[in-house]
Amino acid sequence: MIKLTFYGGIEEIGGNKILLEHKKNRILLDFGQSFKFGEEYFTGWLQPRNITGCRDYFEFNLLPRIEGLYSKDMLKETDLEYQPPTIDAVLLSHAHFDHINHIKFIDPKIPVYCGHGAKTFIDVEEETSPSTYYGEHEYRLFKSGDRISVADNIDVEPIHVDHSIPGAYGFLIHTPDGIIAYTGDMRRHGPMSRMTGEFIKKAAESRLSALITEGTRVAPAESRQLYTEKQVLEIGAKLVAENHRLVVATSYSRDVDRFRTLYEIAARNSRILVISTKTAYLFSKVKDKIKIPDPLKDENIRVYYKRKVSGSYDEKDYYKWERPFMNKIITAEDIRRRQRDYLLHLSFYAFTELIDIKPEPGSLFIHSMSEPFSEEDVEAEVMANWIEHFKLKFQQLHASGHASKHEITSIIEEINPARIIPVHTEHPDLFKKTLNQPVIKPETGKPVKI
Ligand SMILES: [Zn+2]
Ligand SMILES: [Zn+2]
Repeated sequence: MIKLTFYGGIEEIGGNKILLEHKKNRILLDFGQSFKFGEEYFTGWLQPRNITGCRDYFEFNLLPRIEGLYSKDMLKETDLEYQPPTIDAVLLSHAHFDHINHIKFIDPKIPVYCGHGAKTFIDVEEETSPSTYYGEHEYRLFKSGDRISVADNIDVEPIHVDHSIPGAYGFLIHTPDGIIAYTGDMRRHGPMSRMTGEFIKKAAESRLSALITEGTRVAPAESRQLYTEKQVLEIGAKLVAENHRLVVATSYSRDVDRFRTLYEIAARNSRILVISTKTAYLFSKVKDKIKIPDPLKDENIRVYYKRKVSGSYDEKDYYKWERPFMNKIITAEDIRRRQRDYLLHLSFYAFTELIDIKPEPGSLFIHSMSEPFSEEDVEAEVMANWIEHFKLKFQQLHASGHASKHEITSIIEEINPARIIPVHTEHPDLFKKTLNQPVIKPETGKPVKI
């Protein structure tokens, strides 16, 4: 018998925490933080304390009380007694926050498995964002097609899938009582759909006892305009060609496919893509593994340096990791003077730069990420005010990192598992309505026996 217990990702997008047990063997699939994490008790500056480990989280049931999982240090202010690890392995599907952020609580004696690409993203994030810390771990790196023995009776086959971050994997988990597959996050309409195809093929050949599948976009109505990455490129290139002012774009900081698209949009319009120091650093770290321009050598890329307190652009005012790109520097002043020469990638949190750049009215703003989920999204409202203030032309243009409802249905049909367990979705009930196979709707903390 295989026992599956879900501690996150239930009726919500993200925060996957899945415990798989077979006899004495116990493994965890992802250990992320949900996007709505703790919103009933925490907001703004009111956040769980760093110094109390799991204490503030346990108070509001924000972390599962699993024995033999957490580190001694994280438990010392709680009533859960420390036990040497009883979890054999933690498997990370990819390096997004909602799949990995809570590994910081985990006992460093438990090995953490992830892809080479995912590890690079973990390292870069820890190095470049001062608030991010994933804890000390013994990382064990895999590649697609490996077969890893993670516990006495459990072998795992990671198979790459296409998602909005490189280094994303699905897993086939082999136990003496059957094979379970877990999709992680995936899509079929992206530039690397071939990889998702490989996962589907292998899963279909495995006569699965159960498929744990993401269902981000399995929702009542898909009213939003849905594009592929290629369409984002074509439409984006056309929009930029029609605009003779500055073009500003915002997208997810680690969606490398989108950066490649924005680079191409800029190049087709004889514009230079301007990226942040953090993005330049990320590119320099992944350029040998995936196809991405070298920010140090590529003529069509410049690196934006924010003005520091001194008002100058002195190398010593910047972090060490930011410094290598100083010979590619571009400043607010440079952009202000030659607005139509650039496509500036700017995160929402760096919008104050616009005050110095002074974009001409009618400049184009491409919002190349998901539309806000709710009307009351405060950030979306603030963004709208900035756009209005600078009289920018707003354009929504995005290709999702997740399979559409239609894609999910066809993937399940192809794989034809004995059971379907939807996670990472707000609408697990819709799986019941749309599919013929038996669907198990998991409940938080209640084991599913297979
Ligand atoms: Zn996710
Ligand atoms: Zn993801």
